[in-house]
Amino acid sequence: MITKNGKGVFGGIAFGNIKIFNGDKKVKKYFTTDTAGEKKRFEAARKKAYDKTIKLMEKTASEIGKKEAAIFEIHSMMMNDDDFVALVESKIDGGINAEAAVYEAGEETAEMFSYLSDEYMRQRAADVKDVAERIVEAFGQDDNESGSGEKTIIVAYDLTPSQTVGLRDKNISGFVTEGGSATSHTAILARTMNIPAVIGVKGILDEAYDGRFAAVDSSSGTIYIEPNATTINRLKDKKDKAETEMQLLQRYKGVKTETKGGKSVMLYANISNMTDLDMVLANDAEGIGLFRTEFIFMGRNTFPSEDEQFEIYKKAVEKMGGKRVIIRTVDIGADKKVDYFNIPHEENPALGYRAIRICLDRVNIFKVQLRAILRASHYGKAALMFPMICTLEELRKAKNILNEVKLELDFESVPYDRNIEVGIMVETPSAALISESLAKECDFFSIGTNDLTQYTLAVDRQNNMVNSKFDTDHESILRLIHFTAQSAKKEGIWVGICGELGADKRLTEKFIKWGIEELSVSPVYILSLRKHITEMEF
Ligand code: PEP
Ligand code: MG
Repeated sequence: MITKNGKGVFGGIAFGNIKIFNGDKKVKKYFTTDTAGEKKRFEAARKKAYDKTIKLMEKTASEIGKKEAAIFEIHSMMMNDDDFVALVESKIDGGINAEAAVYEAGEETAEMFSYLSDEYMRQRAADVKDVAERIVEAFGQDDNESGSGEKTIIVAYDLTPSQTVGLRDKNISGFVTEGGSATSHTAILARTMNIPAVIGVKGILDEAYDGRFAAVDSSSGTIYIEPNATTINRLKDKKDKAETEMQLLQRYKGVKTETKGGKSVMLYANISNMTDLDMVLANDAEGIGLFRTEFIFMGRNTFPSEDEQFEIYKKAVEKMGGKRVIIRTVDIGADKKVDYFNIPHEENPALGYRAIRICLDRVNIFKVQLRAILRASHYGKAALMFPMICTLEELRKAKNILNEVKLELDFESVPYDRNIEVGIMVETPSAALISESLAKECDFFSIGTNDLTQYTLAVDRQNNMVNSKFDTDHESILRLIHFTAQSAKKEGIWVGICGELGADKRLTEKFIKWGIEELSVSPVYILSLRKHITEMEF
């Protein structure tokens, strides 16, 4: 048994076989004289990838719609494109292995597309990369990959949010990373998906561990490779105990979230995907305090259309049956990258082109989303929230665009909730410090403590090396939260917390005393937080 330690980001025990995930690594390149052999391998991989794409197209057409399936038809055509095939073969003729030839051909072709003047063609660059990636994946892939039913523990240096999303539904029982940080979106996703995760495990990427059975104890931040019988039994007991505790919490379903002294709190859940809704309902959240809509834009190659987005938001508000659903407009940028947004390379992406900054600049993307949200608001209780606001001007501009969209809908006689609440994330020190002015022009605040901590303490939330400095309850953060709450109170708007700190029970009483009226947390924390609040004396 080999034992390694890191930091657990979400309590829980997982068992499974290790799969070393190297999604970000470039493919291995080596020189070979067996060009005929490499061409045969390329042909086999191309065929496998093609067949898979066709299946994907058929599945999408029958389950979602023909329009949405069209992209896979384009991909299948790209896989058969004579020029692309010839480019790969010429690289193999040059003496390199087939995987590297496909990878290089994909990168070169994508680069060529990205220089084209036609916007539509430029966007195809991401498709070419995707096609090449799928062929590369098909090399050496066994045909029954989806099939054994065995649980997998994904081990990686780090996972981007889109990779994490792509791993959904793949029988994953745990995540272990060598890098990573507790408030990275990957860790947040693991929490939302209820999957135990451990970060910062040095030396875990050794290829020799690939395929070996392991156990992850996220509460202690430990991974055991080939655990012995005593360890397995101990962990199974611990898992059973946690499950029993979860069972006991079930009695808090349907209970009002209120202190003994009668102070009630709106206990909401954060989601990033429609599949999270089941967890929200199962844990009896009183609303959705943060719908991270950028995840709808990930794991695909084109912008989701207005109708596609409308259907998702509509389903969310309908499923919540009249409970408030706060839909945050897209927060792309920083670690949440999406190729087809074609955002140029940035040295400091967290301080760069992100969230509302993109939306106010690329108004068309923003308007499509606003239309979809407004249309959905007719079917339940939706609220709108803008991320990364730093200035009053940004809020005003966003509201002006929203008003334009409302007028368009009025003109088309499309129904929407005319009283839809409009709020902002307070997640920059600037927003917190000018919260008195911002409160005069919006309906609610939701404090995003993850980014607020990153920007106040100047500590990259993604960077494992400065993890220990990511002090989420540093006095500076608490003062900003307190000040924001006071500003909200003064202007008569409500204020909540949707960052990870909202689930920190050491601070719950303080938050409530300060006037925080809503806490939005990962669904899995709802019942234990409700228990905690109902047991409070004041
Ligand atoms: C935050 O920054 O606290 C927040 C809730 O938003 P996100 O984690 O999606 O950046
Ligand atoms: Mg944020």
